[in-house]
Amino acid sequence: MSKIHVMDELLANKIAAGEVVERCSSVVKELVENSIDADSKSISVELEDAGTKMIRVIDDGKGMDKEDAVIAFQRHATSKLLSEDDLFRINTLGFRGEALPSIASVSNIVLKTSTGDVGTVVHISGGKLINQTNGDARRGTIMSVNDLFYNTPARLKHIKSLYAELASVTDYMNKIALSHPDIKFSLTNNDQTILKTDGRGELLKTIKDIYGFEVAKKMYEIKGENDDYIINGYISYPEVTRANRNYIVIVVNGRVVRNIELNRVINDAYHSYKPDNRYPIVVLDIKVDPSLIDVNIHPTKMDIKFSKMESLTELITSLIKEKLDHKTIIPKVEKHLNDEESTLKDEINEKINKKESYEEIALNFNVVNDSAPYIAVNEDLIVSDKCTCKEDVVIEEPVKEESRFPKMYPVGLIHGTFIVCQSEDGMYLVDEHAAAERINLERIQKARKEKTTSKTDLIIPITMELTNTDFIILKENKEVLDILGIDVEEFGLNSIIIKSHPVWINKNEEVIIKRIIESVIKEEKNFDIEKFLNSVYAMCACKMSIRANTNITIKEMEKLLEDLSKCDNPFNCAHGRPTMIFYSNYELLKSFKRTGFEIKN
Ligand code: ZN
Ligand code: ZN
Repeated sequence: MSKIHVMDELLANKIAAGEVVERCSSVVKELVENSIDADSKSISVELEDAGTKMIRVIDDGKGMDKEDAVIAFQRHATSKLLSEDDLFRINTLGFRGEALPSIASVSNIVLKTSTGDVGTVVHISGGKLINQTNGDARRGTIMSVNDLFYNTPARLKHIKSLYAELASVTDYMNKIALSHPDIKFSLTNNDQTILKTDGRGELLKTIKDIYGFEVAKKMYEIKGENDDYIINGYISYPEVTRANRNYIVIVVNGRVVRNIELNRVINDAYHSYKPDNRYPIVVLDIKVDPSLIDVNIHPTKMDIKFSKMESLTELITSLIKEKLDHKTIIPKVEKHLNDEESTLKDEINEKINKKESYEEIALNFNVVNDSAPYIAVNEDLIVSDKCTCKEDVVIEEPVKEESRFPKMYPVGLIHGTFIVCQSEDGMYLVDEHAAAERINLERIQKARKEKTTSKTDLIIPITMELTNTDFIILKENKEVLDILGIDVEEFGLNSIIIKSHPVWINKNEEVIIKRIIESVIKEEKNFDIEKFLNSVYAMCACKMSIRANTNITIKEMEKLLEDLSKCDNPFNCAHGRPTMIFYSNYELLKSFKRTGFEIKN
């Protein structure tokens, strides 16, 4: 029996409304998803001129028989949807029977396909069947879409630039590869390789193939589940961020989806570990009962709604926070390997392939130490081009709670700004202001948690004259001022007076209080109070902290470091910037071309 059923009219109409072939990437998307549906293990996409001249998708899937090869191009034919209910229980990738006929109507197509015996070749031009002949018996499908939009010049004009087309295809291919680490993908444009994954089923390896080695070695694996969701994936160290959200990839039941709210949840979970306007690199694979999701069926978008969003938010937040709160997050200064050192790296890889223990390798390299920086060296070894054993990519550093803050001793100060510290395993530079800011921030947060907003009187009360609208806004937001512990009294026409302030403001009182009032006025109605408070606290912590270019004594440095070590997150300032960076002995030796790290024997 034919694999492709003609679906009923009702369903066809439902889908047809949104059906559009907009650009090269929509063609690539359709063809690649068909290949995935055909159980392919290897999918190659070849483009000429970013796909405008040619898009060829080659797979090793189950192929089509003679009959299906023609029916596939007829309207309302699909192998994927059998009834209307399936629309809401999407577990296979393709679910539209519309795209292929649409693509065929605006291009010249050559389809070569075979289920393993006699092959079929079909030529279609502008939607019309030109001929159908026998082809070779290679199992799989080769679909070549030539001269896209050749008969719809208006559409062709819509294509902005070849570069933009290529970027859009590449973005799609990256995401589909991340959602299917078990499938081998490749993408070329005019014979130049853009993407190549190995299909070995290891997500971290795919992340390396797409984002590179430097990123892959700075990813945490996360894993967890609750009654509704199962989550697996990788999140980047807070120091690895990008300027946009495009590097947050969410895969639900095997398909890449968009959900703005989830992006926000992920970004919020990193709050204060990185600047809020920078975004982490994240790949999350979410498994959920299909009845709990609502997919907005539009062929070019993949918007999704979760009916148990709270449960999902909770799980994701806890998984991310759990990592960030328990890891030592100190950016390490590493210089790039030159040729000579690459050979060294090769030797390391060779040893890994022989499955020697990491400790042993580290010993040979004279960089042994029990604390995190030792692992830093080891991390270089974890993901590598040549690794073949699975352990290579799943090793997690065993950082103990008490060892999170490294032991370090201040030895001096540079430009009144950076404290130079010595440690057994290297050298730390601590940003004096950032450290003080973190300490102040946590002091404020603690005061808020304990609700000990005891107040103290100002020697000279602060008065502020406001415009009438500002005055009204301020009165409307009295609740926020109450939480902050600032009592505002009216003082004549549109003027206010502040006579006391919470004790946690212990420096720069006037500046800080005025800034708080200004920010309350600046906020729009119905703003997110928690976020607002966080930004106010960060501002207060900053204003109370020692400025750059201030010299302090070694004793004061020791006190600062001690206070910092007691913080819940000692590694970032209130704005998510690092408080310290680390130079390992290994890096120092390497930089000075000392021989201490060479292999013995
Ligand atoms: Zn600051
Ligand atoms: Zn800061």
